[in-house]
Amino acid sequence: MSFSQLGLSEAIVRAVTEYGYTTPTPIQQQAIPAVLAGGDLLAGAQTGTGKTAGFTLPILHRLSAVSRAEGARRPIRALVLTPTRELAAQIGDSVKTYGKYVKLNSAVIFGGVNINPQVTLLKQGVDILVATPGRLLDHLQQGTMKLDQVEILVLDEADRMLDMGFIHDIKRVLALLPKKRQNLLFSATFSDEIKALTDRLLDNPAMIEVARRNATADIVTQKIHPVDRNRKHALLAHLIKEKNWFQVLVFTRTKHGANKLVEQLGKEDISAMAIHGNKSQAARTRALAEFKSAKLQVLVATDIAARGIDIDQLPQVVNYDLPNVPEDYVHRIGRTGRAGASGEAVSLVCVDEHDMLKGIEKLIKQNLAREVVAGFEPDPNARPQPIQLRSEDHQRGGGGRNGGRNGGGGGGGRQGAGGKPRSAQPGQPGQSQGQRKPAGPRPDQGAAPRPASPHRSGGRGR
Ligand code: AMP
Repeated sequence: MSFSQLGLSEAIVRAVTEYGYTTPTPIQQQAIPAVLAGGDLLAGAQTGTGKTAGFTLPILHRLSAVSRAEGARRPIRALVLTPTRELAAQIGDSVKTYGKYVKLNSAVIFGGVNINPQVTLLKQGVDILVATPGRLLDHLQQGTMKLDQVEILVLDEADRMLDMGFIHDIKRVLALLPKKRQNLLFSATFSDEIKALTDRLLDNPAMIEVARRNATADIVTQKIHPVDRNRKHALLAHLIKEKNWFQVLVFTRTKHGANKLVEQLGKEDISAMAIHGNKSQAARTRALAEFKSAKLQVLVATDIAARGIDIDQLPQVVNYDLPNVPEDYVHRIGRTGRAGASGEAVSLVCVDEHDMLKGIEKLIKQNLAREVVAGFEPDPNARPQPIQLRSEDHQRGGGGRNGGRNGGGGGGGRQGAGGKPRSAQPGQPGQSQGQRKPAGPRPDQGAAPRPASPHRSGGRGR
């Protein structure tokens, strides 16, 4: 099976071939013909499966087949919504790479950076727009773009967008799109909320599922290293040195934890940088670039920051802390073993995390192998201590939704995703900038402190 056999134009096949792809991945084999046929699509696909090209290539094909107005008058014809800035940037890069030989303009817009260059870009005319929901609404509110000519809508990583509380933003965007359009929805997991969204959004969709629901990629070797809580950093440094690990992506539960670990690894002469919501976009971009080019040995990330990181064949993922939400384990280890390359995911688990581990094993329906590292045997008499999120972390949505779900003793976490509509909604079309009520930070915009309240409704997610 080749890309041209899937019905893609010569210009698109040339671009992907030049980029080094020879064979379409399973999701591409199924999604490309389905999207080319023009109907709606519901695709269950984890990151790492090649899903981005699965929707980008047929969109490029369809849009380039019918020419529209040129220059500044060209309307936005395809809109891709994604949960995070990293993912938006990455999809934007893919659109440019695969669309190298077709005459279509694309742009990426997300929060956390100056809006003005984005306005200038939009003025020049954009065919394909990749955006995070919050900043998209800012533009719509300021009248810097219109979506009334959108032919294709993509909701990428829809499960994560809902988890991050974007549902109301998404609904507001949907209301501004033409009724007649093609809808493509990609999600790694299928909650009831996703089902409700798909029922509402998709018309008789083609359905594709390339990985088992909530299943971890099979080519990732997974294991647990039991260890005492205060010896985790020493064990990590030992493993990195002993096994000569390079390009290690390490997940911590909190931003504070990420910063502290970077410091501890530095003392062991291991080069590490952290990316999380409190880092500026420039710092995040730099850390990622150094990591990708292998100048940096270790990248320490919280869940939300790591979402969307795309590094080919990332060999090693370490869960320094287990995630609070079992699904995040699946997302985390989806960073390795991408598109056919094998990878290893190890988790350093202390006595406090045994319940989390049980939740993860239940979700992925497998027991993970335990391997005690000599010299790091855990104390058999150790008592579990409650896992505390530092207040600053959940105030600021540290680790993204985890802060929301777990902060405030539970109960408040899902409000942004499925709760009642927020009052004084920022970004209502027609509402002027001056009327906007600051709604706190958005996951796609970096973070500023705000009061931690289990009752806040929907501040998370914008
Ligand atoms: P995605 O799931 O879209 O994030 O893609 C995962 C990774 O697979 C990216 O690094 C892509 O560049 C790569 N990839 C996508 N399609 C192919 C293909 N047909 N052959 C080889 N690599 C691919």
